[in-house]
Amino acid sequence: MLPQEIIARKRDGLALTRAQVEAFVTGVVSGDFKDYQSSALLMAIVLKGMSPEETGWLTEAMMRSGRIVELPEITRPKVDKHSTGGVGDKVSLILAPLVAACGLCVPMMSGRGLGHTGGTLDKLEAIPGFRTELSDAAYRQQLQDIHQAMIGQSADMVPADRKLYALRDVTATVESIPLICSSILGKKLAEGIDALVLDVKFGHGAFMPNEASGRELAEALVAISASMGKPTSALLTRMEQPLGRMIGNSLEVIEAIDCLRGEGPEDLMEVTYALCAEMLMLGGIHSTVDDAMAALKAAIQSGAALAGFRELIAAQGGDPRVIDDYKRLPLCESCCEVGVESTETMYVSGLDARSFGEAACLLGAGRVSTDSVIDPAVGLELLKKVGDRVQPGEPIVRIHYRDEESCAAAEARLQTAIHLASAAPSVGPLVVDRISHKS
Ligand code: URA
Repeated sequence: MLPQEIIARKRDGLALTRAQVEAFVTGVVSGDFKDYQSSALLMAIVLKGMSPEETGWLTEAMMRSGRIVELPEITRPKVDKHSTGGVGDKVSLILAPLVAACGLCVPMMSGRGLGHTGGTLDKLEAIPGFRTELSDAAYRQQLQDIHQAMIGQSADMVPADRKLYALRDVTATVESIPLICSSILGKKLAEGIDALVLDVKFGHGAFMPNEASGRELAEALVAISASMGKPTSALLTRMEQPLGRMIGNSLEVIEAIDCLRGEGPEDLMEVTYALCAEMLMLGGIHSTVDDAMAALKAAIQSGAALAGFRELIAAQGGDPRVIDDYKRLPLCESCCEVGVESTETMYVSGLDARSFGEAACLLGAGRVSTDSVIDPAVGLELLKKVGDRVQPGEPIVRIHYRDEESCAAAEARLQTAIHLASAAPSVGPLVVDRISHKS
C-alpha cells in the first residue's frame, strides 16, 4: 500500500491494519515514507486517534525498528522507571542506587532535557568525568557487577522514534496519547527489562496539564505495556510546584546525594519511595508496600544506597569524591536572592513549576533547542515551598547565575511565578493514584 493510501485511511477515520502500521514505521526508517508523508499521517493520528489495538501495533513496530537489548545473563529482576518529566525531578539519581541496594537490577536508559524540564543524562554529566555512553560489553559487565547503569539510548535503538519525535516537535503533533504511548514504551521496552514503573506527572509543570489527562495517559501506557507482556504500574503524581528544592544540574546532583544520605526534602522522598516500592513489588522482591518501604528506608539508613551511587559514579568514569565534597561539582560563584514585597506575614500559595523550569533555562540550565549547550553550574534553590510561612523581606528563591543579564531575565520570570496568600493554602496529595495492569 502506498503511503498516501495509508494516510487517507487515517484521515477518513478508519482503523489501520497491523501491516499498514508496520509499513509506516519501516518506511520512516528506510526513507520510503518521506517526512511530509509522515507528518501528514502523524497529524491524521492526532485528529482521528488510534484504537488500543493500533496503538499496541505501533508500539511494537517502534520497539522493533532497531536493536532490542536482551540481558539473559542478568539473574536479578530487571526493572526500570520512566517519568513523563517535571521540574526538579531528580528521582532517577536516587532511585537507581536505592533499588539496586534492595535486590533489583536497573538497566536505565534515559534522555536529555528539552524545554522547561531537565534530563537525567544532563544531571549526571554535571559530575566531572561521568560518561553516559558505554560500550555494550561495559554496560553488561556493569549491570552484573553493581546491578545498575544509567546511560543514553544508542543510535541503533528505536530509530523510528528518533525521526518521528523530531518531526512531531515541529509539526504540533506531540499531544496525542497513541503517539506518546508508542514513543515512550517503544524505547523502554527495547531495554530488555522484566517490568516497568511509570511516573505520570500532571499539572502546570508537566506534559499533561490536568489530572484527567494524566490519568488517561497513565491508563493507556499501563494497558499497552501490559498487553505486550510487561508487568507495569503507574503512579499519577502532581507537578504544580518544583519537586524538591533544587533545579539545575549540579544542584540536583547535590540534592540527590542529600537524599541518599537520608537528608532529602519530604516531597522528593515521598515520590522516590513510592516509585521504588512499586519497582520492588513488580520485581517480586517484596509483596507489600510496608515491607518494601522498610527495606528502602534501611538501605538509606545503612548507607548502602549512597555507597551504590558512589559505585555507579566510579564505574562510569565520574569523580566519586563529589559525594563528600560538593565543591568538586561545577558551581557558580554568584548568587542572589528573590522575594516578594509584603508588609505582613504571608504563606506561599503557589510556585508555578513551569515558570521555574523556564527561569532555570534562561540561566542556561536547560536546552532551548536540541543543540543548545547547557551550563551545569547554574540553577535555582527554593528557600520556601508551598505552604511555608514568609516574613516580610524573607527571600523565597536563590538564583545561582553566571552573568547579570541571564540572572535579570530569570528573576523577571520568577516574579510572576511566586504567589503569596494571607492564609495557609490547602495542598493536595503528591501521589494521587496508582494504576496497575491488574486494576
Ligand atoms: N516523551 C517521549 O519520549 N515521547 C513522547 O512522545 C512524549 C514524551
